[in-house]
Amino acid sequence: MQNKLYSAEAALAVADDTAKLPEATGDARSFRDLILAKLTYAVGKDPIVARDHDWLRAVSLALRDHIVDRWMATTRGVYRMGGKRVYYLSLEFLIGRLLKDGLNNLSLLNTAREALASVGVDLDMIAEMEPDAALGNGGLGRLAACFMESMATVGVAAYGYGIRYENGLFRQNIVDGWQTESPENWLQNGNPWEFPRREVAYEVGFGGAVEATDGWDGSAVHSWKPAETILAVAHDTPAVGWRGNRVNTLRLWSARSLDPISLDAFNAGDHIGALADRTKVESISRVLYPADSTPAGQELRLRQEYFFTSSSLQDIVRRHLQQHRDIKTLPTKAAIQLNDTHPAIAVAEMMRILIDIHSLSWADAFAITRETVSYTNHTLLPEALETWPVPLIERLLPRHMQIIYAINARVLTEARGSGASDAMISAVSIIDETHGRRVRMGNLAFVGSHKVNGVSALHSDLMKETVFRDLNALFPGRITNKTNGITPRRWLMTANPGLTTLLRETIGDAYLDDAEKLKALNPFAKDSSFQEHFAAVKHANKARLAKMIQQTVGLRVDPSAMFDVHIKRIHEYKRQLLNILETIALYNAIRAHPERDWAPRVKIFAGKAAASYTSAKYIIKLINDVAKVVNSDPAVRNLLKVVFMPNYNVSLAEVIIPAADLSEQISTAGLEASGTGNMKFGLNGALTIGTLDGANVEMKEHVGDDNIFIFGLKANEVEDRKRAGRNPSDNIAASPILHEVLDSVESGVFSPTDRERHRGTVQSLRSSDWFFVTDDFDAYGAMQRNVDALWADKAAWREKAILNVARMGWFSSDRTIREYADEIWGVPTLSVE
Ligand SMILES: *Cc1c(COP(=O)(O)O)cnc(C)c1O
Repeated sequence: MQNKLYSAEAALAVADDTAKLPEATGDARSFRDLILAKLTYAVGKDPIVARDHDWLRAVSLALRDHIVDRWMATTRGVYRMGGKRVYYLSLEFLIGRLLKDGLNNLSLLNTAREALASVGVDLDMIAEMEPDAALGNGGLGRLAACFMESMATVGVAAYGYGIRYENGLFRQNIVDGWQTESPENWLQNGNPWEFPRREVAYEVGFGGAVEATDGWDGSAVHSWKPAETILAVAHDTPAVGWRGNRVNTLRLWSARSLDPISLDAFNAGDHIGALADRTKVESISRVLYPADSTPAGQELRLRQEYFFTSSSLQDIVRRHLQQHRDIKTLPTKAAIQLNDTHPAIAVAEMMRILIDIHSLSWADAFAITRETVSYTNHTLLPEALETWPVPLIERLLPRHMQIIYAINARVLTEARGSGASDAMISAVSIIDETHGRRVRMGNLAFVGSHKVNGVSALHSDLMKETVFRDLNALFPGRITNKTNGITPRRWLMTANPGLTTLLRETIGDAYLDDAEKLKALNPFAKDSSFQEHFAAVKHANKARLAKMIQQTVGLRVDPSAMFDVHIKRIHEYKRQLLNILETIALYNAIRAHPERDWAPRVKIFAGKAAASYTSAKYIIKLINDVAKVVNSDPAVRNLLKVVFMPNYNVSLAEVIIPAADLSEQISTAGLEASGTGNMKFGLNGALTIGTLDGANVEMKEHVGDDNIFIFGLKANEVEDRKRAGRNPSDNIAASPILHEVLDSVESGVFSPTDRERHRGTVQSLRSSDWFFVTDDFDAYGAMQRNVDALWADKAAWREKAILNVARMGWFSSDRTIREYADEIWGVPTLSVE
């Protein structure tokens, strides 16, 4: 069906200007025929006996055909133009489902819905059977996925590089209120989106020794002889931009044994032993490390990092040489972005490739590396900064350790030359001498990059004052800010079709191509008729979530109550504990004064805790314990409910966020680098209660002080108090409400079967309270009462919610990517009219 449109010549013609690619004009009849052909010939099922998952596979393959046409056209286009490509290296891609997003981006959603309906199949039902690809932990991985979509949308020729984990993030079950984990096997029914590329495979070495010989001019030539070599095999998934403008490639590596069965052992009759090596080798791409914001520290993790970094760089250099022949032009044809320090070994690996394999001088190699590489920092938490023991790197990557020492020697010489003190010297050093000898991956990434960015204005400023203060002094101007964003295609159009339609009817379609045009909604904020429509959409989304809550946890909630939502990884700095303690205070207050005019609330929590993060798991248990007491107390029946939804992931977020009235973004100021959940909620018309942290600061500037609930200590105030040596028990003594709440939790009011259960949680608040829960408790409670007051005034609430939608366009990841393209990568983007 596509032959006419995409003859080779036509494809090349459109590839010259991908913006001119025609919209996919699927009529439902021909799309139905394509689905039926896929069902018959690719799935091998007669429509009469096909099951839901067969239809899902058939429609996915039908869509894939449309995608592949554009994929080839755009890929060919870049080759022909010889332009610069962007390479986004990320150990995580939190992708979620792809069917609806792909259909939406090719304007085939209604076509597919109609096509399937004509054979009696419900698209929305089968779409929910697609597994949620969770090759990431949280915000960092989700950012990478939003960036892939936005790069394709704004016309950046890009490859994402990562690992094809067989098991993504674990599945969370809640058993008797406790989190338990089980493996998530997202590939068990196959993956229709990926193309295995057996021919695209690279050898990645580990261990062994470095041999030095004399080169022709007498200088030393180094050659690494690894003890162990494994194969990285590519699997490609197309990444479709809005309106199919471009289709880029997400290339994920899978580990394979070079010698799949050890033949000697096999022939000697040791059939099990012959396969043991293979199992060990292939464990590299077996599972995602489930810790968020804390380094895993195990050797297998370092192996994963080097495995995907090395194969990606080999692929980049191979592609460059094949097309441009001269390795020295690499920086003009390739921009490599490191998403956090997980691929920071790229700095040493690039130097090794350039010097040992391509025989460049140190100076040339370092200039090329630095001009090509740039690095995104995602956290300032000292315990979260990645370091590796020198002996481990020496053993696993001996040549890289030599190169790191050599880079470091030059950095330290430069620092000394600029008059640095001893303290400054040890701060800029790539080797940390204070905790045993460890390689600081952040410093390695910093010195090997031409730009280093933070992910919100506040975070980038704090980078300059804290972790990278001395490196910033040594290399002024290198640090820059790129505030995160989210793709409005997934987080508005696909997740919230009701609101999308209402907006189109109200302000037209221009906002679909340029989210900042949502501003056209400003004049409708006070319009009572628009407010009614807006509220009806929100109500329908809430009714859908209420149904899901009933089905999942068996609790009935009222969609007309305020849905107050706190969903994200469970982490002490994100302060779910502050929220649940305030919930207890509210519960006590309602019981004490049932006659007052309370705003009915449903408190909704979701999020996973790293399996080894004990205090986070206790917070989950506390939320569930509180839920049990509150939800069965007739005294608060219509006024307060508490829900913990299990197994938070992208697909669950897509249901919860459009149904939220209030978004909880209450991290300890200075600790959330940006947040992106905050942006998704604002775009879907929730009001934010939050601290001045991460991108909340910029959200306040965009939506206006009157349209957001900001409370609590600011980042500098938190620092001041830390320095002054505050005592949390003073905070508790000064707050009778908090005092009462903590006493009740500590004495087991919410854990009658084990009264000791939450004592540890409370005692750590009394003694140290690292995350300033007791400092912010009263301010948070007071602001929640302001929230109640506004909720009572429906028109005022709706006006603010609408203004949030109108003013969130800047937080589109299209804007973020344009900034990276202009200021870091030096690549062009499509202009918007
Ligand atoms: C957006 C998103 C996150 C990040 O949320 P924050 O609130 O910014 O921490 C994490 N997980 C999923 C599934 C998401 O969609």
